[in-house]
Amino acid sequence: MSKPVKIWYVAGQRLCNFDCTYCVSVGDWAKSRRYDWRDPADKDRFVSIVEWIGSRPFEVAVRLGSLGEPFASQTFLAQAGWLTRQRSVRYVELVSNGSLLMRRLPKMEPLANLGKLSLWLTYHDGQTNLDKFIAAAAFAQEEYGCFVVVNALLFPGGTDAIRRVRDAARDAGLRFNVDLGYDPTAPSVAFESDGITAAVPMIRSEPDVVSAVEELGGDAALTRAALVGLTSPQGRACRAGHDYVFIDIHGQVHRCSRYAVLERDCYGNVLDPDFELDLRPQEWVPCAAARGCCNKEDFLNLDVAVTVGLRGGQVPSLGWTDA
Ligand code: SF4
Ligand code: SF4
Repeated sequence: MSKPVKIWYVAGQRLCNFDCTYCVSVGDWAKSRRYDWRDPADKDRFVSIVEWIGSRPFEVAVRLGSLGEPFASQTFLAQAGWLTRQRSVRYVELVSNGSLLMRRLPKMEPLANLGKLSLWLTYHDGQTNLDKFIAAAAFAQEEYGCFVVVNALLFPGGTDAIRRVRDAARDAGLRFNVDLGYDPTAPSVAFESDGITAAVPMIRSEPDVVSAVEELGGDAALTRAALVGLTSPQGRACRAGHDYVFIDIHGQVHRCSRYAVLERDCYGNVLDPDFELDLRPQEWVPCAAARGCCNKEDFLNLDVAVTVGLRGGQVPSLGWTDA
């Protein structure tokens, strides 16, 4: 089976029913309790970008991200459902807080191929009930055959909650992952400096963060790769741009989200009628970013991640490493 081109697209959808203190959707594009889209043009752009993704003449695997909660948005779900029905789409991964699955999946079913739906479900302590969260995750996996990962974010003082999530996920037969939590208040300048680790509160309080993650049932190799991406990707071989690209809110395409932030080597905009995606033939090239490759959709393209098996498998997820 040939490998699909992996695409991570972050849309401007921003309605969310939670109020996490560490939410990284802040500033001009903050998540909202009231509004799904900042203006109608954002919604139109989203619809067009999804149509572009779903009409590629090659196979694609998509993480369809947003700034809010995708299951709170009818438009978002309609487009996600349409995408799952396209022949060239291997899977569609949504990143969700899980709170609306019980209500929305049955409505989505007639309009989607839910067997192609992958759900990255993050438990937000204090925002929802754990039993309810796990029941919804199991419902998606068992009733609809979705590929489900239960995710927990590691912050200082959060280890007891993560153990409870881990145990509940295991009891329910669900995959479980631990990610490092980021500090949304960390100045963006931190990502340009050697103080980059200030953006990860757990690193400040726990020198051996790899062991801490492993002890909680997370993946040590994944955490090591995260630290490499965060602190020292420059000069390391990376395949982003070869069989993986990032599309931003406006439709701009870069090899990865870090290059998008740095405004380096833009491939063009998918909303441009003349745009053609020109993927790089060479598999590996050195990364030019000094630091700050902090999204796993991106840093799992580093050879230090691929060669230890963190990416390269056929699992329908840009985040699950099958550890
Ligand atoms: S569920 Fe996600 S989008 Fe919503 S407030 Fe929490 S972190 Fe932000
Ligand atoms: S290491 Fe990260 S920042 Fe560098 S090219 Fe790869 S994905 Fe982009």
